[in-house]
Amino acid sequence: MPRPFKCRKIYCSPKTDYFKPRAIPVSRLEVNNLTMDELEAIRLADLEGLYQEEAAKQMSVSRQTFGNIIRAAHRKIADALLNGKAIKIEGGVVAVQNERSFKCVECGKLWNEAYGTGRPTGCPYCKSREFHRGSQERGKESPRPEGPGPAEMRRRRRNRR
Ligand SMILES: [Zn+2]
Repeated sequence: MPRPFKCRKIYCSPKTDYFKPRAIPVSRLEVNNLTMDELEAIRLADLEGLYQEEAAKQMSVSRQTFGNIIRAAHRKIADALLNGKAIKIEGGVVAVQNERSFKCVECGKLWNEAYGTGRPTGCPYCKSREFHRGSQERGKESPRPEGPGPAEMRRRRRNRR
């Protein structure tokens, strides 16, 4: 029995959905279909440079699944580049996220911002400018083996004085 397919979370929307090599008539053109989840995997791993484990978490898939997705994506792109094929971006079982989550480095709070509003100027709780994109799954943060972070250390130093 096939497992129910879980939606893969994606945050990107492509600026264009069709790439074709110059000077090959459409009638003779072969087209590779790149799905939205494959494009998202490319964005996370190749453009943003995330480790596969982190990228998998962002897309709500296992690391192994992420590996399969990105391998398929790389193969299609390589095939298109080397064999002069077009790439059409469409499809995939995906849930497009309309909100991005951020996490404050100073106070540790998470908050969401609508997509397309640009990078927030600061944490809405403490106004700190030190924040980063947060995990979508609250309370499931990976443990930090290196102990308290720099912000926490600063806070402790301040409190000692
Ligand atoms: Zn804050």
